[in-house]
Amino acid sequence: MHLKNRHFLIVGLARSGLAAACFLMERGARVTITDLKCREQLLPWIERLTGPAELVLGEHRRQDFLGADAIVLSPGVPASIPLLREADEQGVPIVAEVELAFRFLEGPVVGVTGSNGKTTTTSWIGHILRGSDRDSVVAGNIGFPLIQAVSEQAPSRGRIHVVELSSFQLEAIERFHCRIALLLNLTADHLDRYDSFDDYFQAKQRIFLNQNEDDFAVLNLDDPALSRLPDRLAARTFPFSRTQQLEAGAFVRQGWIVCRDGSKEHSLISVQELPLKGEHNLENALAAAAASFLLGLAPDVIRRGLASFQGVEHRIEFCGSSQDVSFYNDSKATNVDSAAKALQAFDTPLILIMGGLDKGGDFRSLRPLIQSRVRRLILIGRAASKIESALRGTAPIQRADSLNQAVQSAVEQACPGDTVLLSPACASFDQFESFEQRGRVFKQEVRRRLEEEKKHAEETL
Ligand code: ADP
Repeated sequence: MHLKNRHFLIVGLARSGLAAACFLMERGARVTITDLKCREQLLPWIERLTGPAELVLGEHRRQDFLGADAIVLSPGVPASIPLLREADEQGVPIVAEVELAFRFLEGPVVGVTGSNGKTTTTSWIGHILRGSDRDSVVAGNIGFPLIQAVSEQAPSRGRIHVVELSSFQLEAIERFHCRIALLLNLTADHLDRYDSFDDYFQAKQRIFLNQNEDDFAVLNLDDPALSRLPDRLAARTFPFSRTQQLEAGAFVRQGWIVCRDGSKEHSLISVQELPLKGEHNLENALAAAAASFLLGLAPDVIRRGLASFQGVEHRIEFCGSSQDVSFYNDSKATNVDSAAKALQAFDTPLILIMGGLDKGGDFRSLRPLIQSRVRRLILIGRAASKIESALRGTAPIQRADSLNQAVQSAVEQACPGDTVLLSPACASFDQFESFEQRGRVFKQEVRRRLEEEKKHAEETL
């Protein structure tokens, strides 16, 4: 792709937009960046620009879209916004930041998409690879843009790029090609941004675009939504399943994770030894095992990597225990389905902190799980009333004004053997900047409480 003196419009200035802008400017391109947010909101990114980009903030101008030689989209920007459609009709090339990166990288791509579990699985594969002798990098929608990985590291043919991909990113790929493409699952999350489930499904399916018979499609055989995929993909399918044994794929046999491809078979690790809780994490482990197996990693490298992964912050993250009460931060559970997965992962009585900004979820679907596992439900945030109406009668419910207050109540009411779990089933933006900040506030408060308790116990000795 020719860059020098070409004029690029970057839509969306955050981590990826910034990385794309710097990459392009370093190579002699002219860059305009547009974002609907205002200068003040974007200051942390603007300050890190390494060249003379033109900034069009607080608005999108038609002339910028129609006058560019090419448009680069940041991951959060849907390709459906009207000015992009118009530019597309006028023949302006529109690419995702990952597509731009792809044009400059060497080495194979392992792409990971799905409604849930992307970050965990991407990180898990990256972790397994770090324990091998293969050169690898983890990038994409995981906080480290692929274009940044490409620009910071000298090209290397053998480097494996493990890339987390959102549906928006997939909408704007063209030549992007995954040697191994993983589609983990599909649920109705993000339907607020798509006209229908089918549109969302079509976007996710683009992970298989440009694959051929030498490539692999790794699919979750237990997810009924994936049965809508075409019977034959261009790539070889290598499925994974928690429930079925397979001729070719990753599955569970007598409590062990097995990868098999015809006569080649490795029994890798017992399910008991997996470090992350929950059936959903077993699926993530199977997906990570499948990808590692297809990359040709040695069985003991895969085994070690599966066993030693610490998980990702804010995903059923253990954050301490005291007097036989454990605390878990699952702030990333921003939808009902994720919260359900977390509830299923525990067999101890739960004090559950839920709530935040409602994303249109059906909280009633949580009733059976709440009834069977939750000893007390503490509600926070704007969705509290809606959740209370949906779950009335399942468990004792109380409200708290803040997350800190909710933690305090939980600590006061917890009995030995209980688990206190933050799994909000809602977005965070009513009270926090992000789910990360919400998780950090929870952990800080838990830590403070645990330290206070410890001090108190020492004083009374
Ligand atoms: P993503 O990057 O797709 O948002 P994460 O790995 O960050 O996924 O996990 C987010 C939440 O989704 C987790 O807290 C968990 O509740 C849920 N989750 C993780 N893996 C799966 C899975 N394989 N299937 C269903 N839900 C999952």
